[in-house]
Amino acid sequence: MDRDKLEARILARGRDLFAVLGDEAPSVFNKDWWTGRLMDWSMGHEDFKLQLFRFIDVLPCLTTEEMLAEHIREYFSEGENVPTVLRLGAKSAGIGGRLGMKLLGKTICKNLESMARQFIVGNTIPGTVKNIGKFRRKGFAFTLDVLGEATVSEQEADAYAENYMRLLEGLEGIQSDWPALGESGSPMDWGYAPKIDLSIKPSALYSQLNPADFEGSVGHILDRLRPVYRKIVELNGSMCIDIEMRKHKEITFELYRRLRSEAEFKDYPQLGLAMQVYLKSCDRDIEQMLDWARQESLPISVRLVKGAYWDYEVVAARQNGWPIPVYTHKAETDGAFERCAEKILNNHDVCRLACASHNVRSVCSVLELARALEVPDERYEFQVLYGMAEPFRNALLKTTGRVRLYCPQGELLPGMAYLIRRLLENTSNESFLRQTYVEGRELEQLLKAPQTVLEDESASISTERSDVLVPQSDLAKFVNEPFADFSQPEVRDALGTAISEVKKKLGRTYLLSIGGEDVDTGTLAESVNPARPREVIGRVCQAGTKEIEAAVTAAQEAFKTWRDTSPRERAGYLVKAAEIARNRVYELCAWQVLEAGKQWNQAYSDVGEAIDFLEYYAREMIRLSRARYMGHAPGEVNEYFYQPKGVAAVIAPWNFPLAISCGMCAAAIVAGNCAIYKPSNQTPVVGYTLLEVLREAGLPPGVFNYTPGSGAVMGDYLIDHPQISVIAFTGSVQVGLRIIERAARTPEGQRSVKKVVAEMGGKNAVIVDDDADLDEAVPQIIDSAFAYQGQKCSACSRVIVLETVYERFVERLLAAARSVRIGPAEDPANFMGPVIDESACKSIMEYIDIARKEGTTLYSSDVPAEGYYVPITIVESITPEHRIAQEEVFGPVLAVMRARDFDQAIEWANSSRFALTGGLFSRSPKHIEQCRREFRVGNLYVNRGCTGAIVERQPFGGFKMSGIGSKAGGPDYLLQFMDPRTVTENTMRRGFVPIRSEDEWIE
Ligand SMILES: Cc1cc2nc3c(=O)[nH]c(=O)nc-3n(C[C@H](O)[C@H](O)[C@H](O)COP(=O)(O)OP(=O)(O)OC[C@H]3O[C@@H](n4cnc5c(N)ncnc54)[C@H](O)[C@@H]3O)c2cc1C
Repeated sequence: MDRDKLEARILARGRDLFAVLGDEAPSVFNKDWWTGRLMDWSMGHEDFKLQLFRFIDVLPCLTTEEMLAEHIREYFSEGENVPTVLRLGAKSAGIGGRLGMKLLGKTICKNLESMARQFIVGNTIPGTVKNIGKFRRKGFAFTLDVLGEATVSEQEADAYAENYMRLLEGLEGIQSDWPALGESGSPMDWGYAPKIDLSIKPSALYSQLNPADFEGSVGHILDRLRPVYRKIVELNGSMCIDIEMRKHKEITFELYRRLRSEAEFKDYPQLGLAMQVYLKSCDRDIEQMLDWARQESLPISVRLVKGAYWDYEVVAARQNGWPIPVYTHKAETDGAFERCAEKILNNHDVCRLACASHNVRSVCSVLELARALEVPDERYEFQVLYGMAEPFRNALLKTTGRVRLYCPQGELLPGMAYLIRRLLENTSNESFLRQTYVEGRELEQLLKAPQTVLEDESASISTERSDVLVPQSDLAKFVNEPFADFSQPEVRDALGTAISEVKKKLGRTYLLSIGGEDVDTGTLAESVNPARPREVIGRVCQAGTKEIEAAVTAAQEAFKTWRDTSPRERAGYLVKAAEIARNRVYELCAWQVLEAGKQWNQAYSDVGEAIDFLEYYAREMIRLSRARYMGHAPGEVNEYFYQPKGVAAVIAPWNFPLAISCGMCAAAIVAGNCAIYKPSNQTPVVGYTLLEVLREAGLPPGVFNYTPGSGAVMGDYLIDHPQISVIAFTGSVQVGLRIIERAARTPEGQRSVKKVVAEMGGKNAVIVDDDADLDEAVPQIIDSAFAYQGQKCSACSRVIVLETVYERFVERLLAAARSVRIGPAEDPANFMGPVIDESACKSIMEYIDIARKEGTTLYSSDVPAEGYYVPITIVESITPEHRIAQEEVFGPVLAVMRARDFDQAIEWANSSRFALTGGLFSRSPKHIEQCRREFRVGNLYVNRGCTGAIVERQPFGGFKMSGIGSKAGGPDYLLQFMDPRTVTENTMRRGFVPIRSEDEWIE
């Protein structure tokens, strides 16, 4: 192919198409229309645009005139910032006053709803059928997409599939009345295409979609998709599987391959798949799909799109520490579109192309490539979104004769979410439509080849930032450990394999480590798998008072040198340990899956957090080791610095068996203390993995001592020991208070008052406001309450719901709870597993009984017969005086509380004696602000779940009965393991004073 000639033809074709387009702007940009004027105003006022889009997002939830008026006040500062265009039709009413606001609200609501309708072909089936009939008469084919809320339960997934079936039934009798499009004389459109075409979003077909559970996800979606496709085949229709977020990409591709190759459908080639070219993997993705089609001799169809989730993908990658999966220069995406289109057109014998774009350059390149490659017309078509780029679609129809409209249909509520996506796309700086119709960019610029644009841009493209170093150190700036990306097969395989490997090591004996020596005490305790209590994870030697005494002696001895080891050197051990843990990440996870019953993602987050603590505290120690010079008086130098406290007792919990253990020990050690570590009796083998990591890092003997054992036998001895200077504890409030009390005693021989750092638990509440986005609130509350069986001190155990949304919220919450799978954590299909042991089981069951008596049980799940399982329990009619609203349960028990108004919700949220985490789902700026001020907890999360704090980003810890001490993973944490000192030197000798730059001296 002659590339220069091709380029010339594309440009010529582009000019022609622009000529056919004329000057008419699409309605979104047409300033003769209301939407166009509103968009124009938004693009000129970014602050307003943000508020407007947020307002559209919340609008469907504003069910009363009062709510509507209140939100207009909050979003647009008392209505003053509402531009005339948004109030069109309410001018005479003016702003202000109850009546004025009511009228304004009605008008705005009506205007925005009609804007949403512009993008929705119909909200009822008859309306939809009528409208698509109209468009068919104009020559457009269609593909219908059923708008849906996010699917939070299996019930909703069933309903979504059912909506498709109803729609198909609605179309069934009609299609014979439609004359076929085109002049072919065939009953098919354009001679080859079915008249009925649907587009479907796979994520809406399975509420438990989970990249870690690849097989289960594919299987469950297929179960709901198959009947829809069967019906399509029965109607001689076609279907395209839409593509959504990257994390679901492989599941979607597999879904397509399976459905396409099922015996029942093998001979029916009307199944399409949307593929995104903004993904850096797009070339490989398309080549693999083409290879597959060829190998299987199964013709396929691909709808080529650029991708609608660009911002989401960038944010998700940044938040999770993953490489950015999408191109970051628009021209790269445009270039990929042309490249990928060419690959498909080159393989038109096995793949039909649907070119889905509103970009004149992109479309013209497809047209000219197809011509150059002599691709028959029936092997490619053009698709555009309904309600967008009307002049373009008309011109395209004139030019090609084969244009399909992508038509969302359904209710206005999900329609609003769709509207925002379209508005965002249209008003983005990079949008071709915006550049054409708003920026008025030159035609030659708009048609320029993507490669040329990139070359032009390359001069101004900044290169990757080089690593920023921690001041006065050779260490790079702290970054969080990436989360596991289970959408990658190698990540899934690695964890699966690690679990199998660890299973081969079960039942071994573990010795203590004191002063660098292994110590066999002869007394062993068994640690078991909570999902299969007969499976022994390890037999662990138990420390008695004798061993604790030896450990204190060893630690004291090591302290003499360790305290004066340079902070940089101490930090170096932590950094090395982090590297070792990183190399063993899957194995470390596997131990937790088996010993603690942690699900894959939970276990990975725990190990990641442990690594974060090592890396973060290493850098924090370097920061704190720099002596500070205080004051500015000449003639003296005041130096302020820290020294370690001495021997630290670290008493760790089982719920974050590596992360919290590692965090407390690493902080103590890097600050210059020596640690005696007592892991939880339920997870001593995970505790042993911490010993292995620190040992391999080469810590000097005695700096870290591993002494598992029964609290009843040696707990008090350790806490009471006069040589212990600091106690770091995480666990129950009862044990915590006991430690605090005992630590306050100063028996004979004790040389310092003990410092206690105690993190003790919570009774955390999440408030659901009357304007909350339930699509977000429901799954996040399910996750906060029941992930890891509710055994997190941060877990949500009370959900306080405003009366107005109560019924809808509870209905969706229950359906979502019914949908989760319960079983061993080894199987990633299970969202919830066993609780930690028999006694936890018993205690939780007692609380479930209390909950039953105090309130009304809404749901109690079934549980597997073997293992320490307790049912998910949701109970309502709970008020603050109930025990279930006050006492920490540490299990999957959720109390639902119905609040009269927002003030009562906050009052109830604060009514417990704990103050650890809290959450709020609200889209009211006023309520968010009120919560920020009045919801008094250590960690408040707005519009997200209340668990999963991340080192440095969300320093973690509470107050009141939730603990004493500064937040873990935060800038003050290490200070608790050190004592500050000040040294003042008089620098004046016989009137001679060295003056430093900081001194206040005479000018
Ligand atoms: C019929 C039809 C069906 C669709 N189905 C799907 C689907 O199933 N899944 C899906 O994800 N999308 C789908 N889309 C949307 C599509 O992915 C695009 O978002 C949309 O069409 C805009 O692309 P464009 O070529 O029309 O416009 P253009 O303005 O040329 O391109 C805009 C696109 O460029 C990309 N982009 C923006 N900024 C940057 C940047 N800084 N760096 C790199 N790339 C950038 C984004 O993908 C953005 O959407 C569909 C579109 C149509 C027309």
